[in-house]
Amino acid sequence: MTILMKELCVLCNQVSETIDHLCRACPFTRKVWDSVRLWFGAPHSMISTAASVDDWWKLDRARLIGDRKRDFDGLINYIFWSVWMGRNRRIFQHQDKDEDAVTFSCYEEHR
Ligand SMILES: [Zn+2]
Repeated sequence: MTILMKELCVLCNQVSETIDHLCRACPFTRKVWDSVRLWFGAPHSMISTAASVDDWWKLDRARLIGDRKRDFDGLINYIFWSVWMGRNRRIFQHQDKDEDAVTFSCYEEHR
């Protein structure tokens, strides 16, 4: 499968699009994550200080207990998927779905 990467991130139009940017550094993703984290009840995120997406995921997950770890894994996967689909909608269908709409879809999927 070939993944098309545009020169600039279509969600923020600020920097080159990379996987790390889309999953962790993009202001769009951060806004979604901040909102979702609040209703999920996750502690303050290490998203800003982690060295990579993998590190961030492990650091935040380690601070949860029991079934919350599994729920967190599902939530993170859904956020990544939703951001990716939002990106694709902008590129291929010329439809903008803002951060609040993506956040709401994450909430609807996991409540
Ligand atoms: Zn971006």
